[in-house]
Amino acid sequence: MLCCSAGLPLVIYSCRMDILEANHLAHLLIGKHRLDGWTFRLNNGRRQLGLCREDRKSIELSRHYVLRNEREHVMDTLLHEIAHALVGTRHGHDSVWKEMCATLGCTARSCETSAVMPDGKWKAQCPSCRKIYSQHRRPRYSRGLYCRHCGPELGRLLFNNDEISYQLRRDRAGNREAAQLMLKLF
Ligand SMILES: [Zn+2]
Ligand SMILES: [Zn+2]
Repeated sequence: MLCCSAGLPLVIYSCRMDILEANHLAHLLIGKHRLDGWTFRLNNGRRQLGLCREDRKSIELSRHYVLRNEREHVMDTLLHEIAHALVGTRHGHDSVWKEMCATLGCTARSCETSAVMPDGKWKAQCPSCRKIYSQHRRPRYSRGLYCRHCGPELGRLLFNNDEISYQLRRDRAGNREAAQLMLKLF
């Protein structure tokens, strides 16, 4: 999908990509680079942007990532994974892989921190600097977690899951109502 209105010249503006376009682009690139037998699929990853699975011969992108980021960003990640497929995943992010990235024209970064990804359900706010931390899974330890800027004394973090808290409040309210009803009955 090209982002233009009818009548305007075909300019690809920097904008969000959609699932169809990502699919289309991935298949084009797989064909162009003669990755025979390779397929493309979207996954539900919430932390990892993309994946190259040599065992399955598949290039994957997180659907959450595709829907939240600029097309150039997604394109760059797609090429990053294509580069893995072309040189073999055993090369990891080494110089051979980096050279392939240069050939393909993508940034040879092994870790991407500029992507927009969905927030986790578990949230905590630092009591000092007010920064909000979020995680997808319940923190393994409830104690000893702290803000990396404010330290263990000033930045103690208590993670909370709003969905669970809401359910708990509802359950408690339900119990209170039941207790009141019992009182009325007696
Ligand atoms: Zn990589
Ligand atoms: Zn803090």
